[in-house]
Amino acid sequence: MKTMSGDPVQNTIRRRLQGMGLAFLDLFLPRLCVACEARWPRGPESSWCESCLESILWIESPLCPCCGRPYHKSPSSPDHLCGDCEISHYPFDSARSATFHSGSARDGIHRLKFGGRLHWVPPLVEVLRKAVTQEMADHCELIVPVPLHPGRLRQRGFNQAGLLARGLGKAIGLDVDYGLLARKHWTEPQTRLKREERLHNVKNAFQVVKLDTLRSKRVLLVDDVFTTGTTLCECATVLKNADAVEVHAVTVSRSLPDWRPAEYFAAQTGSREETLSRTPVS
Ligand SMILES: [Zn+2]
Ligand SMILES: [Zn+2]
Repeated sequence: MKTMSGDPVQNTIRRRLQGMGLAFLDLFLPRLCVACEARWPRGPESSWCESCLESILWIESPLCPCCGRPYHKSPSSPDHLCGDCEISHYPFDSARSATFHSGSARDGIHRLKFGGRLHWVPPLVEVLRKAVTQEMADHCELIVPVPLHPGRLRQRGFNQAGLLARGLGKAIGLDVDYGLLARKHWTEPQTRLKREERLHNVKNAFQVVKLDTLRSKRVLLVDDVFTTGTTLCECATVLKNADAVEVHAVTVSRSLPDWRPAEYFAAQTGSREETLSRTPVS
């Protein structure tokens, strides 16, 4: 017996009606790009227009396989451990960020975090998704967002890492545990502090609340920005001490104090020209 979903004529009609419905919706509620507010036709389910997506500076290889630091000054080198990872061992098993902390991604994070613009969650989840490979999604068993102190949560009204974790969980089909990790001390916002102060600020700030849920799990730890990594390190330490077998950290963006956009573009251009000049003409 032919089912509704298998009937090619009905499927064609349904598709056409859907198309007409979306076209009708676009007429009255045009879809706008989240960053530039240009009209953006429905179709690919993205919050970004093509040109804004292209302007995002994605972090790609070559990078440090442990902490994910990109080598923007040597774009033709292979992946290799960075100085930090050679001399010290981060408590997380890996860290990856989708983009440099700049441009639209940075603006979006600021608007969400400090302006309460919640419509920035889906586009930032879309960016964050690029930091998680399918292999990593299949490998991890549980998503844990970096928590806010209950007082800060009351003040802000939401935890941006929790919202990003929820979107990511839906996108890759993993459960999110919002209450597994708790922030027990009220800490100063890390953005105002230097590296040493950041370390001191988050020391012993976190605790695992649900030990049984965590035992022997491979955890995907989610936050908005990787700056010095102190928050992610402290969370990973606490999770590992409570018997998590692996902790992989992912963030939307990575802030690199020594990063200069002009140098990055120069390196990228140089690399492309070098590659083109090496390509034989057929
Ligand atoms: Zn745009
Ligand atoms: Zn590294």
